[in-house]
Parts: sequence; structure tokens; C-alpha cells
Amino acid sequence: MASQEIETLAGALARLPGLGPRSARRAVLWLIKRRESALPALLEALAQVQESLVECATCGNVDTASPCGICVDPRRDPRSLCVVEDVADLWALDRARLFAGRYHVLGGRLSALEGVRPEDLTIDRLLARVAEGGIDEVVLAMNATLEGQTTAHYLAERLEQFPIRLTQLAHGLPVGGELDYLDEGTLAQALRARRPLG
Ligand SMILES: [Zn+2]
Repeated sequence: MASQEIETLAGALARLPGLGPRSARRAVLWLIKRRESALPALLEALAQVQESLVECATCGNVDTASPCGICVDPRRDPRSLCVVEDVADLWALDRARLFAGRYHVLGGRLSALEGVRPEDLTIDRLLARVAEGGIDEVVLAMNATLEGQTTAHYLAERLEQFPIRLTQLAHGLPVGGELDYLDEGTLAQALRARRPLG
């Protein structure tokens, strides 16, 4: 039997996405063996995350300031807005500087199964941003999943009232494809070939 401390840490790690109980235990053992070399850097990084990261009140990105670095970057085109499900999708698109505008993070996708309703996402904040004016194009960059596409259709309906160009990522994306897992070439292609919606 492992000690209580190990059980507690393994239990906490097992709640991370992509880590089950088995991998969590292996991660704990790995850390114990590298107590001197790897643990201090990890503790420091975790403390930094807790102390200095905030959610951008404008777009929902995670950064050290709100508004975030992307929202205040004068080199970005404020007339172009790309809507994504999660911060990880924003990062995927932004890694290779594929998109030169700004972003809006929904905080998830509509899901009847998981009980995620429009009011659970930052849709009102998105509509308010577009209503403010100054935005010419909204790119819906939802994942190529059923729920992602349901969300895109819902957003298209809500955004119809505004004088904007509404486009969607070209889904030569693999069906079920999640943005975060796509290589930059595929993402760039989907963005370049984005098509008008509705
Ligand atoms: Zn921001």
C-alpha cells in the first residue's frame, strides 16, 4: 500500500485531462525519483500559474494580464474576430500565427448530453463585442465534432442580425477533429479556405 501522501497526489493528478489513475501513479513515482531535479521547477511553475495567471475579461484567454496580450496587441486586426471553444484552441491557432485578428473563447460547446446551454458559454459577451461595432468578420472555428457544429449553427443564427461577414473553418478537417490536435499545416489550410456561412 502506498502512503497517504502518495495516494493524495496521485488522486489529484488523476483528475487532469488525459491522465487516468495508472498514469497518475506513474507520474508520482517519476516525481519521487526526481525529487531533487524535477520537483522544484514543477512547484515553482505551479505557484506561478496560481499567482499570476488570470482570464482575460474581453476574450477569455488566459494570460498574466486582463485584457490579455492578444487583445492589446496593436499589430492585430481588430476588425477580425475568431471564435473558439476553448483556450487550447486559441493557442493551437495562435502557435503558428495563423490568424492575425483577435479571439473570443466560448468556454466550451453546446451539449444536450452534458447539459451545456447557451447561457453557460460566453455567448452574450460575444454578441456584445460584435454589437459594439468595428468588427467586419467573425470566423467560427469550432471543432469538427457534432457538438462543435451544433454550436457553430447556433452562433450563426444569433450573429445573423449584425452586418458582418460570417465564415467557418473549412472542414476538410477530419470529422471529429479537435483543433488542438491538428498540425499547423492542416489548421492553416482550414483557415485559408474558410467559407461564408448562412
Ligand atoms: Zn484577451
